Order: sequence, then structure tokens, then C-alpha cells
Amino acid sequence: MSKTLIRGAKVLGGEPQDVLIDGETITQVGAGLSAEGAEVVEADGKVLLPGLVDLHTHLREPGREDSETVLTGTRAAASGGYTNVFAMANTFPVADTAGVVEQVWRLGQESGYCDVQPIGAVTVGLEGQKLAELGAMHESAAAVTVFSDDGKCVHDAVIMRRALEYVKAFDGVVAQHAQEPRLTEGAQMNEGVVSAELGLGGWPAVAEESIIARDVLLADHVGSRVHICHLSTAGSVEIVRWAKSRGIRVTAEVTPHHLLLTDELVRSYNPVYKVNPPLRTERDVLALREALADGTIDIVATDHAPHPHEDKDCEWAAAAMGMVGLETALSVVQETMVDTGLLDWAGVAERMSFTPARIGRAEGHGRPVSAGEPANLTLVDTAYRGPVDPAGFASRSRNTPYEGRELPGRVTHTWLRGKATLVDGKLT
Ligand SMILES: [Zn+2]
Repeated sequence: MSKTLIRGAKVLGGEPQDVLIDGETITQVGAGLSAEGAEVVEADGKVLLPGLVDLHTHLREPGREDSETVLTGTRAAASGGYTNVFAMANTFPVADTAGVVEQVWRLGQESGYCDVQPIGAVTVGLEGQKLAELGAMHESAAAVTVFSDDGKCVHDAVIMRRALEYVKAFDGVVAQHAQEPRLTEGAQMNEGVVSAELGLGGWPAVAEESIIARDVLLADHVGSRVHICHLSTAGSVEIVRWAKSRGIRVTAEVTPHHLLLTDELVRSYNPVYKVNPPLRTERDVLALREALADGTIDIVATDHAPHPHEDKDCEWAAAAMGMVGLETALSVVQETMVDTGLLDWAGVAERMSFTPARIGRAEGHGRPVSAGEPANLTLVDTAYRGPVDPAGFASRSRNTPYEGRELPGRVTHTWLRGKATLVDGKLT
């Protein structure tokens, strides 16, 4: 494999430096490195980050290849600067056995664009009744460490307790989609002023917060790790903050869309804004940004949820919930967190690469940009600003809430173990 010299890149937003990649590895980082025998990428003050890691992606294969496949999803990931994604278990069949997780893992290996780490279901068929084969999934070739019924909440406290006890043996983690099912029956959007005015079924904050409160207490009781998916309310932030202050082993994620969009957008009745958990209020958005900045929320995860046109382009009540996110995540984080002064690029690297890799124990990812490390890297033109054009997405689906919206930042290059997967904004 050849050598590549990335010249004049602001590593994690710092002073411009050169980075030499030889084969699969970063061999030198410094000023004025020799370009001899290397292909040169002029970085011109772009920001170089460790390859991004997404702890929450829906790749839809097997079963819903009309919305996404492992190949199209990993191409979308590389376009967005990701080198590792964790694939959620709500496929058809559900990823609740060693066989299915190994299939997804192998498809990821074959794609060559981005490593795929399957997430195993907590319960058989996501039905919340009976624990899935967590140990067998962990011991499989896919080496599953993260388990989630995402899309559904593990609402039975006894099942949740058993799952936490089980994964503790191999330092796994249960990622909870916190949604009390009875409190959200028929819910269509956030419960509040806007839902009352529109006459749509409301989704109260307490449906999320009550499950998070229960689960941090269960994690404490069992001495195990719990991860909270897509936190969306100011109250959830307060509970996680309290739990962390008590030393409870909880981590939490926020999605880009919950950092930017509010339930006011639902007034348009455009189903592109229909998502689970729902878009909340301005007050929640500001609390989530602050919590991501101060470390109460550990990471940004996309909850990339592709849906085909026919499942989204219909009336609000009938539309599927979810948004694509891999190809716009970094831009939304720049808009909401960096350009607002809440985070620097080192802070972004922490929340979009180092920490998600640590939570999911993704080997070789979320590593420092330094000599001897695997060359998983992403180069970002942070000076760019322009409208989002879904026609250019690598994802098979187009359900983005940002169509036509001006956002900053563009990923120009991505390297997966030294192999360029994205060059000048084009997939290789
Ligand atoms: Zn979810």
C-alpha cells in the first residue's frame, strides 16, 4: 500500500501540521515532513479529526433493503466522515442471534467503506418478553458489546435488570430507548403548547424521564453500565447529571436533530420532522447543547433512520418516524456547538470519535491522531457553507429535515485504515 502525506492540516483544530500515512498506519505527525514517495493531499488549513464513530445507526439490512443496505449505509457513513458505525438490531429478522449479527458484521467487512459493529437485541424479536442470546452474540465473530431494543423500550424492569446483570460479565452495555409505552400510546409529537394547538397526540417528557430515572437506579443497583439513547429533554439531562454525580455508570447520547430543531416545525405537518423521540422545545434544545458541552451528555449519535419515499411522503399520522443523519451530522454539530462557541474541534473529536469508541469498545477506532495509530481519519473543510442537497446523498433514502438549509462544514476526505474512502467529497 502507498504513502499519503496530508499537508498543513489543523489536527483537532490546532496548529497546521503534516500527517504521513504509510499503509494502514499513521507513521509521522509534525511540521515540514518529506513528501518523498507519497501522494500529497493539500489540507490548506482544513481540520483533521479521528474517523468519526456512530454508536446509533440503522442500516436496515437484512429486511428493509428498499430503505438502506449495509453497502449504501456505509457509503453514507464514509461521506459523513465516519469510519465505524454501530448498526441497530431492529432489522428483519431482528439481530437477536449470533447468526444475524455475524451476517451484518460480514456485510460491513465486505463493504470496505466503514467498519460495522452490530448491536444485538436485548430481547427476542424486540418483544420485551425474553432475553435474547446475549452471551452467544458476544462470543460470535461479531463480538457484540452493545445491546439495544432501540425503536422499542425495554420497559419491563425485571428484564432490564437481568440484561444489565448479564452484560456486566463481559463489560458490555445496554443502550436504552427510553420511552414508557403506556404514556406514549397514540403519540404523534412532543406534548406541549404546539401539540395542544394542532390537536395531535402528545408525547410527554415524563415518558422518557421516568425510564431514565428507573434505569440509572437499576444500573447502580446492579453495578453495570447503561447507555441512554437520544436524550431529548431538559429533565433527562438533570437525571443523568444527578446519576453521574453519584458515580453511577451511565453514558448518554444526543442526536444532531435534537440539537437544532424544535416542535414548532411540526406546524408545517411535513412528516420529515416526525421522529422518535420527538422534536422538543427551544428550552430543551438549549439544555441539550449545554449538557453536551459540559460532558453530562457524552456523545453525539446520529440515529440515522432511512425510510423510503412512500413511508414518509404521506399524511403526518401515517408517516414513519425517523430521519437520515450520517451525511449531515458533523455540519449540524459545527452549526450548533462549534460556531456557537460551545465546543472546540478537540471537543468534537471527543464526542464524535474517542468517547463513542470507548463506550462501544470499538478496537482501532477513536484513537489519537499520532504516530503508530491506525490511519482512521476525516478531513473537514470547516470554512465551507452551503445548502444541503439530498440528491447528492450516498444513502438510499432522502428523508432529511435539512433539504435546502444552509449548513457549515463539508467532509472532503475520509481514510479507513489508510485507504481513502472519500476524496475531494467523492466516494472512491
Ligand atoms: Zn430509538
